[in-house]
Amino acid sequence: MSTSRIAGFYQLSVEERRTRLLKELKELEQTDERELDTSLSNAIETWESGGLSVKTASQIVENVLGTYALPFGVALNGQLNGIDRLIPMVVEEPSVIAAASNACRMIRAGGGFVASMKGSLMIAQIELRDVPDTQEASRTLLARKAELIQAAALALPGLVRRGGGPQDLEVRTIGPQHLVVHLLVDCRDAMGANLVNSAAEKIGPLVAQIAGARLGLRILSNLADRRIAHVEGRIPTLSLLSKQASLDPSLRSFKAKEIADGIEAACIFAERDPYRAATHNKGIMNGIDSVVIATGNDYRAVEAGAHAYAARSGTYSPLCTWRRQGDQLVGKLALPLALGIVGGTLRVHQGARLALAISQATSADDLALLAACAGMASNLAALRALATEGIQRGHMSLHARSVAIAAGANEAEVEEVATTIAAAGIVTLHAAKDALSALRLCRE
Ligand code: NAD
Repeated sequence: MSTSRIAGFYQLSVEERRTRLLKELKELEQTDERELDTSLSNAIETWESGGLSVKTASQIVENVLGTYALPFGVALNGQLNGIDRLIPMVVEEPSVIAAASNACRMIRAGGGFVASMKGSLMIAQIELRDVPDTQEASRTLLARKAELIQAAALALPGLVRRGGGPQDLEVRTIGPQHLVVHLLVDCRDAMGANLVNSAAEKIGPLVAQIAGARLGLRILSNLADRRIAHVEGRIPTLSLLSKQASLDPSLRSFKAKEIADGIEAACIFAERDPYRAATHNKGIMNGIDSVVIATGNDYRAVEAGAHAYAARSGTYSPLCTWRRQGDQLVGKLALPLALGIVGGTLRVHQGARLALAISQATSADDLALLAACAGMASNLAALRALATEGIQRGHMSLHARSVAIAAGANEAEVEEVATTIAAAGIVTLHAAKDALSALRLCRE
């Protein structure tokens, strides 16, 4: 991406936005001398159709009746490890994409997101019950680690050929006569659930035989804590001021620090109270899930992993924390993110393939980092709003647009009806219908 900053993008029509975005991406592919991703050539058709035919849908899941559409958008201003990136997002909640774009702009002012994956291993669990001697079984299993890893690799020839496969094996005691063996698998560019399940099923009987135990469950753990995305963002506090803020220059720095302190205080609230932490993390998942869904990944797996990780200390905690350090607000986010750019539904969902092309993700880890950046941006935007004017103002003005549409406003009328009901603070269908009638009367 030459630049992820496209001035006035939100003011363009849907058609103009598509043209602009595709032009940027096509130019980039030409510069990089890459073959044009076929999903970009069919982008308009994909956006119109949703990217999934009923015929294909009925091959993916059961009892299909049709397909179900969600808004597909893009967050701008992203910069990840020095490279400009567009962030594809699929989400039904108003303001999530605008807020992420806005927060990405603030983080960009401090050099953008700095992110890395800590590990990229998936965990397959093999449960052992009625283990006669857990200590002895653990010792023997670890002594035969190489043999077990080799046996597991036989279940994953394709993955091994691509440089991945089983890497390590650990044993945990979880109760009396109760062991769990963790097989750690490098799944390369796949999310890996099916891959590691196959490996666990392959070696399960041998593992049980070695331990002299009864074989229990064999399935991955969604607490993918060997595949953690870390993101840091450093924002010059002055960048937290809204563009419209017409403050005396001497007051600007003071006001900016006040906002940063407000964000830090909101974060400390989440660190001390699980009730607040749940909502804090929901805001993070607004950004992450939108990217996960856009790219055809398993959002239930991501959600399960994120919340289990948030509770790993025994107290449910925020996944992203913020502190002011002088003239900078520093954010740090960490969570398990097992995403794929191959496998799963990706093969068949044209919308997911298009989102991947827009993300320009070079690997599963790279996509995970981009999703994590969207998470941090969403969190920053929510905390900034809470620490300043409150969340409802921005939220309501966007919600007002949906209500205006529901009241029957056409394209030329939506903005005015939405503005009227949002300004009055009465965002109801009834108020929107009244505002629409008044507008039409005026225009007659
Ligand atoms: P998958 O079954 O499609 O396996 C990935 C395939 O891609 C393999 O055949 C692999 O050899 C191939 N591949 C091609 N290029 C690759 C590359 N560069 N790197 C790695 N593999 C490559 O998918 P998966 O990732 O094993 O499993 C994901 C699916 O499993 C998702 O649809 C998810 O919803 C589902 N699932 C999830 C859970 C869970 O989270 N608890 C449980 C079961 C299934």
